[in-house]
Amino acid sequence: MLRMDAPFGGWGASIMKKIIIAIDGYSSCGKSTMAKDLAKTIGYVYVDTGAMYRAVTYYAMQNGLFPEEGIKEAELKADIDAGKINISFKFNAETGRPDTYLNGVKVETEIRQMAVSTRVSPIAALPFVRALLTQQQQLMGKEKGIVMDGRDIGTAVFPDAELKIFVTASAEIRAQRRYDELKAKGEANLDFDAILKNVQERDYIDTHRETAPLRQAEDALVLDNSHMTIAEQKEWLISEYTRRVNS
Ligand code: C5P
Repeated sequence: MLRMDAPFGGWGASIMKKIIIAIDGYSSCGKSTMAKDLAKTIGYVYVDTGAMYRAVTYYAMQNGLFPEEGIKEAELKADIDAGKINISFKFNAETGRPDTYLNGVKVETEIRQMAVSTRVSPIAALPFVRALLTQQQQLMGKEKGIVMDGRDIGTAVFPDAELKIFVTASAEIRAQRRYDELKAKGEANLDFDAILKNVQERDYIDTHRETAPLRQAEDALVLDNSHMTIAEQKEWLISEYTRRVNS
C-alpha cells in the first residue's frame, strides 16, 4: 500500500486543465531534478518511481533477500503478497522535496547509496515487483495533475499521458553528475569508473529486461540535455507543458 501524506506541490490549485506528465529516461540524466522543479512550479504532485524500486531493493537487502548469490525471489514475492512492503512519501519542508519511507521509516539517504544502485536494476526487472509498483503509480495518477519520472511511465504506467518526455545524455556526463551528487552528499571513497560502470550496467539491464523495458514511447519528445543548463531545460519544459494544457 502506498500513501502520499503531503503531496508534493499540493493537489493543484490551478483551474487549468490537469494533465499527466511522464518523464522517462536513462539513469542519472537529471530527470528527478527537472521533474521536481516542474511539479513545484506548476503546482503538481511529483512522484519519483525510481525511489520506489530503490525502497523495495533496500527492503530485500535489509531482510537477507539479496545475498551475494542473488535475489531470493520466492521469499521476496511472499513478503510482497503478504503486504510487508509499504512505501510512502512525505513532504520535507526543509529540503522542499518528498522523502521516501519504507514501513514508516525514512530511508531517503539509504536508498541513494551505491550499494542500492548496484542492486536495483535486477530487482526492477522482476515482473511481480513491477506489477505491484505500477498499480500503485497508476492509483497516484488517477486525479491527474502529476509529474512522474521513471523508465516506463510513458510506455507502461501511463501510455495515455498527455505529455511524455524522454531524457537522455551521454553515459560519461551522467556518471559525472552522479559523482558530483554523491560527493556533495558526503559519500566517501568515490570511484568515477565504478560509477560509470554502474550507469552503463543499469542502462543495459533497464533496456533489455522483458517486462516494461526502458524505451522511448513513440509519442515522446526527446530531450538530450548533455549540453543544456537547468534553466534552459526548465524553459523548454514549461513551454511544452503550456502548449499541452492550452491545446
Ligand atoms: O531513477 P533511479 O535511477 O533512481 O531508478 C533506479 C532504478 O530503478 C533504475 O535503474 C531502474 O532499474 C529502476 N526503475 C525502473 N522503472 C521505473 C523507475 C526506476 O525500472 N519506473
